[in-house]
Formats: sequence, C-alpha cells, structure tokens
Amino acid sequence: MRLDLSGVSVRLDDRPIVHEAGLRVDDGEFVALVGPNGCGKSTLMRTIYRALRPSAGLITVDGDDVHGLSWRESARRTAVVAQETPAELDFTVGEVVLMGRTPYRLEGQADAERCARALERVGLTDGADRVYATLSGGEKQRALIARALVQETRLLLLDEPTSHLDVRHQLEILHLVRELGVATLAVLHDLNQAAAFCDRLYVMSAGRVLAGGPPGQVLTPELISEVYGVRAVRRTQLVFERLEER
Ligand code: ADP
Ligand code: MG
Repeated sequence: MRLDLSGVSVRLDDRPIVHEAGLRVDDGEFVALVGPNGCGKSTLMRTIYRALRPSAGLITVDGDDVHGLSWRESARRTAVVAQETPAELDFTVGEVVLMGRTPYRLEGQADAERCARALERVGLTDGADRVYATLSGGEKQRALIARALVQETRLLLLDEPTSHLDVRHQLEILHLVRELGVATLAVLHDLNQAAAFCDRLYVMSAGRVLAGGPPGQVLTPELISEVYGVRAVRRTQLVFERLEER
C-alpha cells in the first residue's frame, strides 16, 4: 500500500488553504505530519480521506485516484481517526467499533472477536457496553482507534490521535501503531514523540509542505525556528518509556 500526493491544493470558502502539497507514505511506513496550528494539516488530511476535494493535484492509493474510488473500496483501503471526535454518538462503544466492519460482509461472531481484540489493544477491555457519549475524551479517542483497527486496512490516517491522551496512553498508541506495521500518516504535535516513533516526517507551514525526510535530518533548529518561531536546542532530556506490566 502506498499513498502519494502531488501538487495538492485545497481551497475553503474560496480561500487557498493548502498549496501544492506533495508527500508519500510507503508500505509499512509510519510517517508524521507536523506544523503549527492552522497551517493546514487537518485540511490536507481531510482531503486525503475525501471529506474535501482538492482544487488541484492528485492523491493516489496504490496508483488509484482516491477521489475516483467507491466509498466501500475507499473504506477497505483507508481507515481514519479524525481530529474532532464525535461527542454525541448514541451508541455503545462496541457498536461504534463494529462500525469499522461496515465495508465488509458482517460476520457476527468473528466480528465480535475482532472488536474485543481491538478494544483490548487500545486498553478499553471492559468498555464495550459503555455508552460512547459518556466516555472521557481520551477513551473516545481510543474507541475510535479501535474502530480503525477492525477496519483492517493497509493505510491509516490519524489526525492528532494522542491529543486527548495522558502520556502513558500516548506511548501505548504510538507503540501500537508502529507495531501494526501498517502504512500510517499521523498528524502529531509533540516533535520529540514524532522524532522518536516515525520513520519519516513532513513539516507543513502556512499551507505548504516545506520539508520531508528522517526526523534527525528535517528537525533542525533552523527549520524549527523558521516554522514555529521558537529556538530549539538539542540536549539530553527526560525520556518516558511505558512499563510492560502495571
Ligand atoms: P491545522 O490542522 O494545521 O491546525 P486546519 O487545516 O484545521 O489547520 O486549518 C487551516 C486553515 O483553514 C485555518 O486558517 C482555518 O481557519 C481554515 N479552515 C479550517 N476549516 C475551515 C472551514 N471549514 N471553512 C473555512 N476555513 C477553514
Ligand atoms: Mg488540525
């Protein structure tokens, strides 16, 4: 599975938001998209998962224009966790996760097992019968990640998948995604985490993809000060690693 964007521009309310963005995610790669608030990351992600149409350029998955695929075929190739988690879903967590199986023929018991496994992987083992609307922000986010897992796609699009999570759950999710070995494009805010987990990253600023490559090459103090307007200093830092059992 390979995702390719070339020359992608997006307008909202007739205002140009994304300008000629190009990037790629190769099979099995974990790629991060970083950049300041409002630079167009979510707009670009939404265009990749077809909530928006580009005004120019091409987005392909395995060579096929995503905007030409049927919705079912899209959903078999690409799973999405969007930035805004829907708050008011009047369903149980189990039902929300099962929605991830919509693009396939439903299989009853096998689907129930898939859902239980996915909930376990995101640490919501006893959550299936809870009402989704009553979960905390972090639990909702993990339920939506479980929904994306049961979709069993070879491409994952995650827009700030760790934004509502405490540090332990952030690490759990990032480890999980990396261990899946599924091609992933993830908007991440924490540059240190992005650098620690992803194979490559792209930096966006003011609607443009400015740079891409291995984190150590891309995240230079010069680029960070240009893009974020802060001084970055490389130094030894406190590193958090999850404990195996707790
Ligand atoms: P990011 O995810 O990088 O924080 P967004 O893609 O959400 O940035 O937003 C990029 C720009 O597009 C912002 O200026 C934002 O105000 C604008 N924008 C986002 N959504 C809409 C919309 N639905 N209509 C008009 N402008 C929007
Ligand atoms: Mg965003």
